[in-house]
Amino acid sequence: MSDTHVRTRIAPSPTGTPHIGNTRTALFDYLLAHKYGGEFILRIEDTDQDRSVPGSIEKIYEIHHFLGLVPDESPQVGGPFGPYIQTERLDIYQKYAQLLLDTGAAYHCFCTEERLKQLHETNKFAKYDRFCRHLSSEEVASKLASGAPFVLRAKLSETGFTVWHDLVQGKLSLPNTECDDKVLMKTNGIPTYHLASVVDDHLMKISHVLRGVEWLASTPIHLFLYEAFGWEPPVLAHVPLLLGPDKTKLSKRHGAKSVLEYAADGYLPEAINNFLFYLGFSYKDNSDLLTLPEMIEIFDETKIQRQNAIFDIQRLNYLNSQWIKKLSSADLFDRLKSFIPTDWSPEKVLQIIALVKDRAFTLKDFAPAAEYFFSTPTVESSAILAQSAHSSAETKAWFATAIKIIEDISDFSSTSLHEQLSEAQAASGFSPKEAFMSLRVAISGRNVTPPLFDCFVILGREETVKRLQAVLS
Ligand code: GLU
Repeated sequence: MSDTHVRTRIAPSPTGTPHIGNTRTALFDYLLAHKYGGEFILRIEDTDQDRSVPGSIEKIYEIHHFLGLVPDESPQVGGPFGPYIQTERLDIYQKYAQLLLDTGAAYHCFCTEERLKQLHETNKFAKYDRFCRHLSSEEVASKLASGAPFVLRAKLSETGFTVWHDLVQGKLSLPNTECDDKVLMKTNGIPTYHLASVVDDHLMKISHVLRGVEWLASTPIHLFLYEAFGWEPPVLAHVPLLLGPDKTKLSKRHGAKSVLEYAADGYLPEAINNFLFYLGFSYKDNSDLLTLPEMIEIFDETKIQRQNAIFDIQRLNYLNSQWIKKLSSADLFDRLKSFIPTDWSPEKVLQIIALVKDRAFTLKDFAPAAEYFFSTPTVESSAILAQSAHSSAETKAWFATAIKIIEDISDFSSTSLHEQLSEAQAASGFSPKEAFMSLRVAISGRNVTPPLFDCFVILGREETVKRLQAVLS
């Protein structure tokens, strides 16, 4: 590897927001390039205009920005091998298509849509029957002269095997009889994925094509093209599929979403990167919290797992909760801004964050956990009485004692409140659980909150007394 300058690319087609599986591939490409001090390129493969979905390119940029998988070259930042959008490179592909025609590696195909459809229906023929491959040069010339529409097809070898080595999948081989004379250029002069991606990977000096295993079947035609052009093919690495828990290809049915949807659901970029890293790469017990620079250190392209990876949302939740715990309160506060009401006082939110961050799985968990600090809950007296075996009169007496202490205490801190209220509780005949659960429910309307005396401090003396009074009366 030492003499190869590593350049990798992610080459999404703008057919919607990329699936989380594509983003895993992007992460691996990013790590591979950075591990060797090379470049990570983002190229938009938009030659299939019928499938283009407006807005997808912006979503792709957003995902990379959110995760910090910043490309060194892209349509946005440019670079020495641009343009990086395929429809802006059409003249380049024309030139290379002509070269293939000139060397006999490609041929004109005049078959109509109708004929191809018929072929498909009658023969259940998945492949083209190579009819036009056998037209004489006179026939071709006359059809061209008559202006008949045509596509260009690859003239693949009809014998032998294509054999190659894949960094992840190992040694592979396919009989050439199984390959199809794929279309390289359509009637409108726009190249297909096969031609465009091979030309671009070569011209953009891509050293490693690391992509999803679903593209493995396209490799023989790509290798054919490299040979036809006389180019050295890049190193190929096809990463396994992501499967749902039922071992079928991951889809929306399994609850899988795009990274942007996970972001909106309160998942941190750190946790998503960490989660994706472990999907296909084994490191210790897959529970270490790793940053991108740490992943770059650890990543080893020869150790990508060959078996398909199972998408386990529990693992993402776990990693997210651990990352939330790890972030400073100030950092968390910044990330929480779009998840909490704008009128919540930042000072109070910061105090609450410190108390609740250990229990949150996502950023969405904060607002519900903090809500009662900002609006008075409705608490039924029956809910208070349910917390102890004591009568209503005894409970009232305990509340009156607690209120008095809270009103009079000079140092309104969690430690002092704890000391004085515990002393009073011991004398009250209430068990600690009975005494403090009833106060907890009274101020929050819930059975589970952060430590009670911390909640008092955040609410403030006045508000705490007000809420306890309201229950008392
Ligand atoms: N444009 C293809 C896609 O949408 C890229 C395949 C490749 O990486 O070669 O995923």
